[in-house]
Amino acid sequence: MRTLRLAVTVARGYPSGMTYDLPDVRGALTKNRDLSSLTWMRVGGPADWLFQPADMDDLAEFLAALDLCVPVFPMGVGSNLIVRDGGIRGVVIRLGRGFNEIGVAGQMVSAGAAALDAHVAKKAAGEGVDLTFLRTIPGSIGGAARMNAGCYGTYMADVFVEAEAVTRAGERVTLSPADMGFAYRQTELPPDLIVTRVTMEGAG
Ligand SMILES: Cc1cc2nc3c(=O)[nH]c(=O)nc-3n(C[C@H](O)[C@H](O)[C@H](O)COP(=O)(O)OP(=O)(O)OC[C@H]3O[C@@H](n4cnc5c(N)ncnc54)[C@H](O)[C@@H]3O)c2cc1C
Repeated sequence: MRTLRLAVTVARGYPSGMTYDLPDVRGALTKNRDLSSLTWMRVGGPADWLFQPADMDDLAEFLAALDLCVPVFPMGVGSNLIVRDGGIRGVVIRLGRGFNEIGVAGQMVSAGAAALDAHVAKKAAGEGVDLTFLRTIPGSIGGAARMNAGCYGTYMADVFVEAEAVTRAGERVTLSPADMGFAYRQTELPPDLIVTRVTMEGAG
């Protein structure tokens, strides 16, 4: 099995100067990836590694095999992130094409975490479901769930039914509203939990 090496050079809660095997993946794993081009503010240094998983299996298997000492940080489309010039240590995970499907059944809208809020609002509206509050928020559904994004007096918490996620250990979990711990523009989710899909109930 092909392995990649992570040279950890900065200590913030994990050992300096050590190397770790990174699991083989089917998606893209990029070393020293500059993050400035992936954030709204166009600032910030590199991630030690940027992982863009091909699909759920790729993500869960990667996390299960990744040494627990290596920090993991999920990012959406970076509209609520200011990355420091020194970048981010460990593995930044950014979901893409394998995670952007949107489905509508009755009033229920299920969207992959990489789907853009505006696309979800538009697709829902096309099916007669009102998720208008998402229309002008320049983020992804994963970011909207994590941040309890809101607009026009409606928040993710108001429409949230459940979410699928993958823990740092690679376990697939389903999150209820209580698990989310919604508060104003924040939740109580662990910072290294990756939300992969969100189901919302819109108004008719
Ligand atoms: C011009 C402008 C207008 C805005 N207007 C609004 C507004 O009206 N209402 C509002 O609420 N916000 C607004 N925001 C803030 C921002 O758009 C929201 O917070 C948005 O939900 C962030 O989504 P994102 O995909 O960009 O997440 P990021 O900025 O990439 O990440 C934000 C946080 O979410 C976490 N995260 C991202 N994806 C995942 C995932 N899949 N799983 C787990 N955690 C994840 C990250 O770790 C980080 O902690 C605005 C921002 C800008 C720049």
